[in-house]
Amino acid sequence: MTITQATNPNEFLGATLKSIRNKQGWSLDKTAAATGVSKAMLGQIERGESSPTIAILWKITTGMKISLSSLLAPDHQQHHNKEDLANQTTGNLPIFRSADEIRYQPAQDDMLVALLFPFDEALGFEIYELTLLPHYQRESEPHEAGVTEHVLLIHGNMEVLLNGDWKKLTPGESVKFNADQVHGYRNLHHQPAVFHLVIHYPNRHK
Ligand code: MN
Repeated sequence: MTITQATNPNEFLGATLKSIRNKQGWSLDKTAAATGVSKAMLGQIERGESSPTIAILWKITTGMKISLSSLLAPDHQQHHNKEDLANQTTGNLPIFRSADEIRYQPAQDDMLVALLFPFDEALGFEIYELTLLPHYQRESEPHEAGVTEHVLLIHGNMEVLLNGDWKKLTPGESVKFNADQVHGYRNLHHQPAVFHLVIHYPNRHK
């Protein structure tokens, strides 16, 4: 498995978080209260001094009601002129992506991330390839009402926490669930588990 050691995304991430927060008119206090991430940690992330795990980023984006990819996708943001957007949304330009080229390990956490297709405003979803290294476990905060997740297991074994029970998936199996409740992912095995995750946000604009 290839893990790209891309340029450190912290600087982009920090500046982007700060700019989105300012646009929303949210103070650090309000953001800390809404996300459950401390004001000190938010400040460190905004200054590029802290390398947050995906779990922390998910807390922030869920609390701020923005897509995870709005903090992870500098290319998407920078190349987002009107022509690109029109081409994307009308499907004129096929977009090829290789997870091997973009997979990385934020904060040396046990979850690897490849953002295959950043949040698309017209479609309302984003698509990831996620890798759970052995013994990774995470329980996720509920997203806002109406958010749906689709987990499609490619290889390895994993379990998804749904309605208080861990449900086992084997390769080729998939599950769709309402993500406006506590949910989670874990890998109890000795091999990495790789899955695609499609998150649909019916009411989001970024
Ligand atoms: Mn989730």
